[in-house]
Amino acid sequence: MRAMLVRQQRTPLASVDVEIPRPVGRQVLLRVRACGVCRTDLHILDAELERPKLPLILGHEIVATVVSRGPEAVDLEPGERVGVPWLGWTDQTCRECRRGQENLCPAALFTGYTLDGGYAEFAVADERYCLRLPAAYDDAHAAPLLCAGLIGYRTYRLAGDAAEHLGIYGFGAAAHIIAQLAAHQGRQVYAFTRGGDVQTQAFARELGAVWAGGSDEQPPHALDAALIFAPVGALMVEALRATAPGGTVISGGIHMSDIPAFSYHLLWEERQMRSVANLSRRDGRDFMALAEQIPIQTSVEVFGLEDANAAVDRLRRGQLQGAAVLGVSD
Ligand SMILES: [Zn+2]
Ligand SMILES: [Zn+2]
Repeated sequence: MRAMLVRQQRTPLASVDVEIPRPVGRQVLLRVRACGVCRTDLHILDAELERPKLPLILGHEIVATVVSRGPEAVDLEPGERVGVPWLGWTDQTCRECRRGQENLCPAALFTGYTLDGGYAEFAVADERYCLRLPAAYDDAHAAPLLCAGLIGYRTYRLAGDAAEHLGIYGFGAAAHIIAQLAAHQGRQVYAFTRGGDVQTQAFARELGAVWAGGSDEQPPHALDAALIFAPVGALMVEALRATAPGGTVISGGIHMSDIPAFSYHLLWEERQMRSVANLSRRDGRDFMALAEQIPIQTSVEVFGLEDANAAVDRLRRGQLQGAAVLGVSD
């Protein structure tokens, strides 16, 4: 099968022919239909995340159909369409798993990082970590739901039900999904982009934001919570500055540049800063149920599998509106 392989970090992906993997245990063999390109893939390629499996097939927003089952697989049937997210396996025995925090499992394996992912024609995945996808989304448009949507949703949920005025910093793949969900749920969404990026600001307003401006601007209303979806530490401080007493600033990213020093008075009055790590299967099920109810328009740009390097470059340069998706043709 064709795969786009990371042989070494900090080098371009190589288009290679590798053997189709064999499903073992509760794994299923999947024919990849589409796979989203996520910023985390850049962090892995650029060695900002350490110790990936090598060589590695990236990609943790996989939309696929089941081809066959491993010897112990019982849940999924050949022909079914499923999604494979970042969380690929957990031990279910550690302190975190037993407390319902499998997203923090120290033994967890991650799709497209410590397990091979979906920048390929076929993949294997443990059926217990696959998600059923709402039928209304075609393969390419479903792909961004699997990380941008899911991690975005976990970040959004930590803002709490009482957060009426919600800031979103970094208006890329996650933001364009969560802004629609938040607006649908009656929140006032304030979108923050790079200064002067009027095109993205207009896109944010189309998706339901009541205000859009530069990340160094103050919104017309203090924020109850702010979600940070860009890997820029300074935004944590900018967001804190725009946040009301008791408000929370939540980073949805796995990697971020250093957070600059700031005056304690920005944090005072019980403001909080926190991060989100990974996702649990419950996040996956809850979010897919919402995506079924609310018609979320995912904006995608589809690339051929062989054009993965171009897709990655466009994301790195901030030249995408919405999400890049690798479409695998038959
Ligand atoms: Zn565990
Ligand atoms: Zn991701």
